[in-house]
Amino acid sequence: MNNENQFPPLEDQCLPFQIEGQDIKGRVVRLGRSVNDVLSKHNYPDEVSKMLGETLAFTALIGTLMKYDGILTTQMKGDGPFRVLVSDFHKETENAIGNIRGYTSFDGDIDSSDSLEELFGESGYLAITIDQGKFMERYQGIVKLEGDSITAAAEEYFRSSEQLPTKVMLSCQKNDAGEWQAGAIMIQHYARTAEDEHGRDEGETEDHWNTASILLSSLKKEELLDQNLSLQNLLIRLYHETGVRVFEHTDVAAGCRCSEDKIRAALTSLDLQELQDVAEEGTITVTCDFCTKDHKFELSKLMH
Ligand SMILES: [Zn+2]
Repeated sequence: MNNENQFPPLEDQCLPFQIEGQDIKGRVVRLGRSVNDVLSKHNYPDEVSKMLGETLAFTALIGTLMKYDGILTTQMKGDGPFRVLVSDFHKETENAIGNIRGYTSFDGDIDSSDSLEELFGESGYLAITIDQGKFMERYQGIVKLEGDSITAAAEEYFRSSEQLPTKVMLSCQKNDAGEWQAGAIMIQHYARTAEDEHGRDEGETEDHWNTASILLSSLKKEELLDQNLSLQNLLIRLYHETGVRVFEHTDVAAGCRCSEDKIRAALTSLDLQELQDVAEEGTITVTCDFCTKDHKFELSKLMH
């Protein structure tokens, strides 16, 4: 019923969906301008940008699951070539928008095809923190970084935190114009009862899940990023046989929450000697790790 040109291509959005008549829910994210804005502010090697881009897409994918306004932080830490790789998603329900930002710290050459143990060391872990302020209790889930990709870590996170079968695909690469693009898609099998309210038995829903997983595996990473293929049409291509229902999308943009006031407050809590040590020609410069913006403060004004 839908032809391929009915919807305009979508950029920088997360779209939740459900496979018709089945207990399988999913979400798909495509990031264009937002991920390019974040990655182009940092001057990382392409292999590093690619991994940060995949992490940003994953963060947007699960950040949009937050019910209330809040911040979801994805942090990977270790003692391998990567020290830290962090991104966060700030959801503002009022505007149906989420802001992403991220940075990384690493040492030496990074090859994104190396295993997570090689990249983050034996002690590497992924921590996901969800802070929805006064609305809900702060949540943190931690898994060891194992396997061959951030996708593997993402699936392990869902396995351990939600105990639901989950399949994830992440991708980040440059387009022909040299701009970064990233995408993420996941499906989850949420039926766990022996027989659900529609009278379907476990075997039947198991078959649904296997079929949906195989179809997702058939998706090419290029399709996930293809701006000429709208997210709706991508889902129709995958699940046209059963049908797919989409829900309200969330827009995603690059955005940082660093503020002059917060940094000034932190600086004024330091003693004079510490301030003098970091000042250059009477000015203290604090560079935001996330957006690389320089915040400058005159030492003489901080001392009052
Ligand atoms: Zn910033």
